[in-house]
Amino acid sequence: MLFPAPVVGRFAPSPTGPMHLGNLRTALLAWLHSRALGGRHLLRFEDLDTGRVRPGAEQTARDDLRWLGLDWDREVRQSARLALYRDALERLPTYRCTCTRREILESAGAPHGPELVYPGTCRNGCLPGRPGALRWRVPDETVCVRDHWTAETLCQHLPTEVGDVVLQRNDGVYAYHLAVVVDDAEMGVTDVLRGADLWTATPRQVALQRALGCPEPRYWHVPLMTDFQGERLAKRGGAPSVQQLRAGGAAPAAVRTTLIRSLGWETDETADLDALLRLYRLKVLEPAALQT
Ligand code: GLU
Repeated sequence: MLFPAPVVGRFAPSPTGPMHLGNLRTALLAWLHSRALGGRHLLRFEDLDTGRVRPGAEQTARDDLRWLGLDWDREVRQSARLALYRDALERLPTYRCTCTRREILESAGAPHGPELVYPGTCRNGCLPGRPGALRWRVPDETVCVRDHWTAETLCQHLPTEVGDVVLQRNDGVYAYHLAVVVDDAEMGVTDVLRGADLWTATPRQVALQRALGCPEPRYWHVPLMTDFQGERLAKRGGAPSVQQLRAGGAAPAAVRTTLIRSLGWETDETADLDALLRLYRLKVLEPAALQT
């Protein structure tokens, strides 16, 4: 059976600016997922990159979510959990890397894929006297992950397709990949529903889970919302924020309908959350249960 354990889902926004409709759609789907399975739903603010965090963004996000009718059972903030990340980091084989991006580019040659793969330049020692990032010496393995939203499988050979992953930046900030793995495990997350932009980062996160002895959640990567020109709705792209929509008098039910219809699903204007939970079971959970 696909959903044996009690389900725990989460929404994990980065409070780096106002939420737009794309973030809100992911938030709605994550909530529908947890609740349609009778599970707990958690909110996690990913605020480790302090230079990008915007004051007030966290509270605005909470207000946006509540306005849409969503709730959650526990809330955490990554900046309050640094000891957890430090402990995990100490359990992994890492080395200090002082290479600049330019040096990496030069030694890596032309990238083979969309992402630059770190060629391991500092694996056997590096230039002293410069601040360095901590990189995880990835095992020589191929990791395959399955996505339940798209029914796709993705395999990546860690040394050649991912490279040694930065787990702590040279300014001391713990990296997202480390924090997300530690947090999902500590919070008991069984189902990760998030934007499709993180799909290709999933094998390295699963590899980290294995190295740390953490359970592997089920993954559901939802399409990113695009505007009429097919451009991704980016925070800086001029799309109205949810806060602006609220201030402009938009009705939550109408916004929910817009979000759901943007997936190509049919729903009427007045659909309440119970109707959307039924729709979610029909569109996502029942087909996914049949795939396995
Ligand atoms: N904080 C990430 C974001 O806002 C999401 C991380 C995740 O869901 O794993 O894109």
